[in-house]
Amino acid sequence: MAEPEVNLSRTYDVIVVGSGAAGGMAAHVLTSHGLQVLLLEAGKKLDIEQELRSMEWPYDNRYRGGLPPDSHSLTLNEYTIRNPPYGSGFEKSKHLYSYVGDSDYMKNIVVDERENPITGTNYAWVRARCLGGKTNIWGRLALRLSDYDFKAKSHDGYGEDWPISYSDIAPYYDKVDLYLGVSGVRENLAHVPDSLFQRPIKLNCGEMQLKQGIRKMDRTVTQFRAAVATDGLTHNKYRRRCLARGACNRKNGCDIHAAFDSPTGLIYPALDTGNLTVRTNAVVREVTVDQQSGKVSGVHFIDSLTLKDYTARGRIVVLAASTLESARILLLSKSRLYPNGLANSSGHVGHNFCEHLMGPRIYGQMKELVGKPPTLDDGRPGGFYLTRFRNLSDRHPKFIRGYGFEGNSGCSMFPKGTDVPGFGASFKEEVRKNQGSYIGMGAFGEVLARYENYVDLDPQVRDNWGIPVLRFHYRFGDNEKRMAEDMLETAQEMFEAAGFRILRANGRMFTEGWSIHELGTARMGQDSKSSVLNEFQQSPAVKNLFVVDGSAFVSASCHNPTWTIMALCWRSCDYLADELRKGTL
Ligand SMILES: Cc1cc2nc3c(=O)[nH]c(=O)nc-3n(C[C@H](O)[C@H](O)[C@H](O)COP(=O)(O)OP(=O)(O)OC[C@H]3O[C@@H](n4cnc5c(N)ncnc54)[C@H](O)[C@@H]3O)c2cc1C
Ligand code: SF4
Repeated sequence: MAEPEVNLSRTYDVIVVGSGAAGGMAAHVLTSHGLQVLLLEAGKKLDIEQELRSMEWPYDNRYRGGLPPDSHSLTLNEYTIRNPPYGSGFEKSKHLYSYVGDSDYMKNIVVDERENPITGTNYAWVRARCLGGKTNIWGRLALRLSDYDFKAKSHDGYGEDWPISYSDIAPYYDKVDLYLGVSGVRENLAHVPDSLFQRPIKLNCGEMQLKQGIRKMDRTVTQFRAAVATDGLTHNKYRRRCLARGACNRKNGCDIHAAFDSPTGLIYPALDTGNLTVRTNAVVREVTVDQQSGKVSGVHFIDSLTLKDYTARGRIVVLAASTLESARILLLSKSRLYPNGLANSSGHVGHNFCEHLMGPRIYGQMKELVGKPPTLDDGRPGGFYLTRFRNLSDRHPKFIRGYGFEGNSGCSMFPKGTDVPGFGASFKEEVRKNQGSYIGMGAFGEVLARYENYVDLDPQVRDNWGIPVLRFHYRFGDNEKRMAEDMLETAQEMFEAAGFRILRANGRMFTEGWSIHELGTARMGQDSKSSVLNEFQQSPAVKNLFVVDGSAFVSASCHNPTWTIMALCWRSCDYLADELRKGTL
């Protein structure tokens, strides 16, 4: 793989900021159009051979897979009881990580919270500063949005419709499916459109029992739609076909890259075109503006190791630093022409911030499976997805929008059910007998986009590189609380319908941010007074500026966003290349 040297004396066609799902996709599409792209990534180049250890079992790990004793990862209670910045109070720990950084497999991927503080309301902001961003450790559930999402306002009157419909983005979902690979089963549901699937992962006995049990309620359990190349991808030499092995359910990256990650799926192939230059440890702190033309001219970035400041020049700037970081960069980019920050004449940058609600969950047991021989379920890229059923043809009296459930059943190396009372041989026998009979699932619901939920820059607190941090003004509202109550009720009703013994059911909402699906801080729209970007994720006022991550979402849907982020990004980058050719940028 050829890696050209960074040349800061030249003007690149496009500067892309960030290398996760969005930045990787931008690099892939733009270089395939023959454009010279400089990709700037704040984090390090991850040693993926060392870090993505899906074949390592905890017993081979010095800390049995846990964190070293000098480190701590925040718990649900700590996020809730303490106030940001979360660093104080943990002085005894050398490193402090988000809740995802609770293992030896994650600690070099997620950021240290002390170096990257936040202020304001409680928020579990999970960040991965390294080449590939969060795609190195993501859960890989790859869902499409539908017109129930793009036209949600037309459906229930709340918020705004997106300026696009499913038919606009469907060809780009197809491209993403074929280029990156997704496994699943066709269900022909209008609200969860099918992808062009590779071979599905099999549902196990417990999951089949749930599927059959709730069919009479007209609800659907389908195979986890995993962004995993179960049949392989002949056009990508960096990725392999899924071999259904290893500690896949740990979801800390796939060592043969059958599961999609941005470096092997997008960035390495883009480097092979010879059109991409990657600069890691490059923390972008501002987009620069030509004060004559009002157009962007490049970026200022800080080398994260030496703290030296640099300027890179580009004809176009594409922000893909993730929803909250891109908003932060826009707000940081204040100038005489743009005193409220770049592309912020509407005042909507940082606002309409939305995500997914998590917390309500259920855990049960199938008595028919007690004592049955163990099955091998660790090496499965996912269990099941129970699709949305609320507010489609009917209207729920207490809340709008919907939710789905992710879950799984089966055996695992560290068995479920070790919390039963007892000890010694009889305890072990009890655990062995029951281990494959458990099933659990947790809900993901749409959080409404509201102008009052927003981030801005903290006037005092700065990060490790001297850059003002984000201050959160963000809380779940009544719709989310009522939805959470319903999630718990329906989870119980479905487990009962499937004949499961319910062992635990909990309706407690997790802290804001837990879903790691931040969206909407620079939404697209037809009216530039109430939006930031147009349907091609371009600033209408600063035409050579694009923001191609989840910032552009108008509403959150209840579907995991990454496949949509990449499909939208592909569409926008095709448009960008066309417009550049026409000379309109
Ligand atoms: C544990 C986990 C499970 C998840 N499961 C799912 C799932 O099942 N399905 C799903 O759809 N999504 C899932 N997600 C979310 C998914 O990872 C994100 O939606 C996706 O990665 C977003 O892509 P992005 O490019 O916007 O951001 P990221 O992947 O976060 O990439 C942004 C990149 O920009 C860089 N950056 C930030 N600031 C700067 C700066 N100032 N200068 C330069 N570079 C910068 C960052 O270092 C990072 O590399 C999960 C995430 C996690 C962590
Ligand atoms: S099961 Fe497949 S996707 Fe999971 S780690 Fe193994 S090869 Fe990778």
